Amino acid sequence: MRVYKFGGASVKDAEGIRNVYDVLQKTGYEDVLLIVSAMGKTTNALEVVIKNYFEQSSELQSSVQDVKNYHDQILLDLFSDPNHPVFEIIANHFTDLECFMEHNKSPNYNFVYDQIVSMGEIVSTTILSQFMSFMGIDTQWIDVRNFIKTDANYRDAEVDWELTQENISKNIKTNSLNITQGFLGSDENNFTTTLGREGSDYTAAIFAYCLNAESVTIWKDVPGVMNADPRYFENASLLNQISYREAIELAFYGASVIHPKTLQPLQKKEIPLYVKSFINPLLPGTSVAKGVDLEPFYPCFIVKREQLLISLSSIDFSFIMEENISEIFKLFHEYQIKVNLIQNSAISFSVCVEDKFSNFSELNSILSKKFKVDFNENVTLYTIRHFTEEAATTVEANKTVLLKQVSRETMQIIIQGT
Ligand code: ASP
Ligand code: MG
Repeated sequence: MRVYKFGGASVKDAEGIRNVYDVLQKTGYEDVLLIVSAMGKTTNALEVVIKNYFEQSSELQSSVQDVKNYHDQILLDLFSDPNHPVFEIIANHFTDLECFMEHNKSPNYNFVYDQIVSMGEIVSTTILSQFMSFMGIDTQWIDVRNFIKTDANYRDAEVDWELTQENISKNIKTNSLNITQGFLGSDENNFTTTLGREGSDYTAAIFAYCLNAESVTIWKDVPGVMNADPRYFENASLLNQISYREAIELAFYGASVIHPKTLQPLQKKEIPLYVKSFINPLLPGTSVAKGVDLEPFYPCFIVKREQLLISLSSIDFSFIMEENISEIFKLFHEYQIKVNLIQNSAISFSVCVEDKFSNFSELNSILSKKFKVDFNENVTLYTIRHFTEEAATTVEANKTVLLKQVSRETMQIIIQGT
């Protein structure tokens, strides 16, 4: 069995969906399980709906209508016959959504979020499977919520591997093209849960693990995993092979091509992960598998923008020791501030952090009672795996370096500005 994952960008319009058909024709679809995300930016659009719903905004209706219109346009482009059953099936899904919003009494934001946001994947997979059938492929639409069971930690649910394994082994038939939703699961009471934003790669890995799949392929609009983001680096090159360990390191430092949770289940069973271009599906792309760490052995650049560099020093020249450090980390955790780099000396402690939820000013007032706090806003963190002098020069040229940290395989450089 092969598991294919198509993300939002690959199915953002009718042309994208026709292209999925094309990829299946070219690579074969016998024994394929397709995992599909919501179309284009639907998840973001549904997040707006959720926000409007909670704020009882007058824009709620129009935000729902935007999502409907977007899918309607795709349906009209794909199916010329307005009596095709897909129109009614999709309309019914949206009616379900509206019924939920009308009758829901739960004030739990995360719970409501999952019940609403899941519509993106339900609708995208319905359209895709109807289209594949229409094109003559024997297709099975699967509701992933009957397979992936999780706890009730909405928006970041934890998979119950035992139940999930049992459901998948018993009930997945491999004699037709199976199409199912990425990102979703369900809890004990069969309420919808989600696995965290961009979680569809992880769904692919869960199925691959439980099915002992031959491989997972993530289809992308790039040729594979590059050693740098081609938008920012002139000489970005394709990596042919990456070991699991190296891929986990790259994901840890923030390479966004592969969702970090995806790799562990695959590594456990040594199932190869291919990252390939949906525009040139017959090219080999990148393979993440057992074997050499990196081929070709290029330095890899990972860039994180809009970081905050914070330096804490003791007010009375006392040492910053374990107990202060653990206290500081506890606060970062509490304020949902993600630490991306740490450096300490006897009386000072520097961290490069990401303040996604704009909590730093509040935290700063607490830290300032105990420490002298200095900080630089809007800094950029460059990580170079397998650095060379030349690679470092590329990053540092004409820039103000605020901090640099070197270990055996990794160099991290913090630059003022972007
Ligand atoms: N549709 C979800 C998101 O945009 C899941 C995914 O795309 O992987 O986060
Ligand atoms: Mg996505």
